[in-house]
Amino acid sequence: MNTVLLHICCGVCAFYPIERLKEEGFCVVGFFFNPNIHPESEYLKRKQVSEKVAKLTSIEITKGEYEPKIWLDACRDYEDEPEGHKRCFLCYELRLKKTLEVCKEKKFNCFATTLTVSPHKNSKAIIETGESIGGDYFLPVDFKKRDGFKKTIELSKKFNLYRQSYCGCVYSREHLPAGKAGSTPACRQGMENRKQKNRK
Ligand code: SF4
Repeated sequence: MNTVLLHICCGVCAFYPIERLKEEGFCVVGFFFNPNIHPESEYLKRKQVSEKVAKLTSIEITKGEYEPKIWLDACRDYEDEPEGHKRCFLCYELRLKKTLEVCKEKKFNCFATTLTVSPHKNSKAIIETGESIGGDYFLPVDFKKRDGFKKTIELSKKFNLYRQSYCGCVYSREHLPAGKAGSTPACRQGMENRKQKNRK
């Protein structure tokens, strides 16, 4: 049987991709590795939901360490980039490189990512990144096709799963509209500090 290590960005996004890969005959193991997520409490929430989805879909899940520093080191010069641009490409690359590393180490046939299920994410860029990093190891599935996003949301509603309101990193949180999580005083202060630092 073909084995696939599926990079999981969050439990909600993972639901449909897991079901689809299983239907296609893959033996799926999840890999939760997301050093981009801020703050840690949010990281823990998404990890917990991913574990719940793994249980509901009867797959194994393995977790990487929470290493926000490596994400900051990779993306710190791109804080003002809008979502879906250079910072996000680096963020995809970081997560997919680690997934490939584990894929080879644990001798999976291939790896894929749930990132392509979101309508807010550029599947073409994600797939190109996966292919350039992993070559034939990367399984280029665009999970938003065949109504993938709609299906994954339906499943999350059915099982009453927590759904986050921002992509994950500190910058995506700060740029939320007023009244959402990112507009807390601490976030606004963080954004102001960075602006001032940039002006110097
Ligand atoms: S907006 Fe999302 S994909 Fe882009 S850098 Fe932040 S966490 Fe990563």
